Amino acid sequence: MTAATLANAPVLEVDDLKKHFPVRKGLLRRTVGHVYAVDGVSFTIGVGETLGLVGESGCGKTTAGRAVLRLIEPTSGKIEVGGTDITRLGKAEMRPYRRQMQIIFQDPFSSLNPRMTAGEIVGEPLLVHGVASKREREEQVAALFARVGLRPAQMTNYPHQFSGGQRQRIGIARALALGPKLIVGDEPVSALDVSIQAQVINLLQDLQRERQLSYLFISHNLAVVEHISHQIAVMYLGRIVEHADTRSIFTRPQHPYTEALLSAVPVPDPSIRRQKRVLQGDVPSPVKPPPGCHFHTRCPYAVARCKVESPPLREIAPGHRVSCHLR
Ligand code: SF4
Repeated sequence: MTAATLANAPVLEVDDLKKHFPVRKGLLRRTVGHVYAVDGVSFTIGVGETLGLVGESGCGKTTAGRAVLRLIEPTSGKIEVGGTDITRLGKAEMRPYRRQMQIIFQDPFSSLNPRMTAGEIVGEPLLVHGVASKREREEQVAALFARVGLRPAQMTNYPHQFSGGQRQRIGIARALALGPKLIVGDEPVSALDVSIQAQVINLLQDLQRERQLSYLFISHNLAVVEHISHQIAVMYLGRIVEHADTRSIFTRPQHPYTEALLSAVPVPDPSIRRQKRVLQGDVPSPVKPPPGCHFHTRCPYAVARCKVESPPLREIAPGHRVSCHLR
């Protein structure tokens, strides 16, 4: 690839990513099956773009986010960062890419070390990567504190001295410390009150504009991803069932599962009514996903074919992909 092509390359390109966890049993810990947590997921995120990855708990979205960062090793598939295949890079070769890709965790209470000051937490990535002297580090951490809406004087405080929203701001400052290009947010606002959620999402959007950041924003809640995402991928049992730009997902959802998720999202305009669709039953086990369309056990439109034939993810309009026999 030429330097010019690399400069235009998407920040992240994921192709047919799979993560299957072995299920072991017995004294000899024999493998008796697999959990198909992520089962062939593909997407691309451009510079300064956000992809919202949505689905119920257990659909594989968190596993997909961690596999992309190589925090867990993918079973197969390809991950390209800025045009370079990082899927099989060794620890030392991964180091520069670790700096480019950071994560913000869901739980601001447990993701911060209670024995470290907030300043030490935010400065830790700089220390680990040896990119700044002690003084430079303190200056950079103070600037990061100010940027995420905390007072530099709070650098000496411990996590328990902050509110939930403030702790998530510490998590964001830590993720920003190394100047990443991509941030994976794993339910980054789910543990916060609704009013605080909006503040944190606004902060993430401001940072995206300033720094041309790209986000993979993981959430179980479509309403949360609506305002921050340029494109949305809906996951069900390890696979993407619908993927399109945010407007198309909200105005013309094509997959019955997306329709059901959307029916739970409140509409601010009282003149618009969405038909409420309550999903029947639980998400089936990813150890033994149903044959055919994984969604057929809960789908109100299922026909005989759905029980035996798996629908491919097809492009039904430019940039709009759906996995359903009826589309
Ligand atoms: Fe429902 Fe069949 Fe479409 Fe699956 S393929 S979503 S079961 S209609």
